[in-house]
Amino acid sequence: MHIFAIANQKGGVGKTTTAVNLAAALAAKGQRTLLVDLDPQGNATMGSGVEKRSLKSSVYQVLLQLATLEQARVISPAGKFDVLPANRDLAGAEVELVDLEMREVRLKAALAGHKDDYDFVLIDCPPSLSMLTLNGLCAAHGVIIPMQCEYYALEGLSDLVNTIKKVHANLNRELKIIGLLRVMYDPRNTLSTQVSAQLEEHFGDKVFKTLVPRNVRLAEAPSYGIPGVLFDKAAKGAQAYLAFAVEMIARVDSWKEPL
Ligand code: ADP
Ligand code: MG
Repeated sequence: MHIFAIANQKGGVGKTTTAVNLAAALAAKGQRTLLVDLDPQGNATMGSGVEKRSLKSSVYQVLLQLATLEQARVISPAGKFDVLPANRDLAGAEVELVDLEMREVRLKAALAGHKDDYDFVLIDCPPSLSMLTLNGLCAAHGVIIPMQCEYYALEGLSDLVNTIKKVHANLNRELKIIGLLRVMYDPRNTLSTQVSAQLEEHFGDKVFKTLVPRNVRLAEAPSYGIPGVLFDKAAKGAQAYLAFAVEMIARVDSWKEPL
């Protein structure tokens, strides 16, 4: 079981789109996949076709140990993957976890008994470096960082990299950056191609080969509760996320030691 956090403290950079579409693409490739929604906005939940307002339990109850993963997980009706869903309740977890023991490793503990259930677990983190994101980073083996190829993207990256380093040093020795995923890419935009080239230069093979283009079909899909890769399979965005799933599968196959 490979556990990846999809993180970037900036909002609107494509974390949720990447989480939902990678989950659906991995499932389409026959991988047993769990998508964990760690954002109180519940966008990954809704984008997977799960109604966040009618949940019996959610990731909130799991973090507070009021429910187990078995009790809270649901199946994405469209996507053939499991979802540990989130809704507004999760906003309270930030405060409620503060006084609790082992507060950073609640998600890790919840996943611990399920090593044989899944090939991939993807964690959609909220746009902050909060206790929720910390739970994501402590549970994960690696981080996938979606980013837009614009000037300010590089500025924010150093804060995230420093946080990942601190978590690695103090809380989770397994954690590493798997790679940077360039999203909402526009090859006609000169800045976009320049920043993309800079990323390759600085980060080498930490930059995924797959480039996800800006594609309106990916943005339309969530309102139908269908992952973009299934909503319009032929669209350029869908094709990119399917290619990204193939790249991720090849990446984990190349690691000799099972995680
Ligand atoms: P985050 O989770 O980082 O806040 P989202 O995945 O919600 O970011 O994306 C922010 C907005 O950009 C959403 O409206 C989403 O539909 C849109 N979006 C994300 N990726 C793409 C893409 N490749 N092409 C077009 N729109 C996209
Ligand atoms: Mg999001």
